[in-house]
Amino acid sequence: MTQNSVASSCIFCRIIRGELPSSIVAQDAKVLAFLDINPVHPGHVLIVPKEHHENIIDTPTDTMQAVIAMSKRVAEVIKVELPCDGMNVSMNNFPASGQVVMHTHMHVIPRFENDGLKPWPHKQYQDGQAESIAARLAKILSKN
Ligand code: 5GP
Ligand code: ZN
Repeated sequence: MTQNSVASSCIFCRIIRGELPSSIVAQDAKVLAFLDINPVHPGHVLIVPKEHHENIIDTPTDTMQAVIAMSKRVAEVIKVELPCDGMNVSMNNFPASGQVVMHTHMHVIPRFENDGLKPWPHKQYQDGQAESIAARLAKILSKN
């Protein structure tokens, strides 16, 4: 499938082109922000680049910066205007993480004290494992 045919059938590209309805809350030259059709809580917003990219890895850095800047703005506004007690700002990347729509998107999800949603479960590192992983990652990350 070519990139053009992916974009022509992509549900978020179709929303961006105005071919499908959406509840738009904000936009700028690079990004569109609209309500998630099945919100975790009402006021759950998705922020998407206007160009088709699939995930955080294939999205250019300046485009991710625009997504994050808009996410911050949306978070500031929903905190006061919904209002909500907090918010989760997160992205799913690749199906293994739970990504269903293969067009880069940030979720800004309003949260409320005692709303009953459970955080992710956490694990413990085995002896030496954290040091080993951190060293491997730091070696590569220090080069860019
Ligand atoms: P993912 O699991 O890929 O991170 O999340 C995709 C999100 O897109 C889901 O929360 C889902 O409710 C939302 N979504 C899927 N289709 C549509 C749609 O047609 N319109 C809107 N506004 N949201 C959608
Ligand atoms: Zn798309």
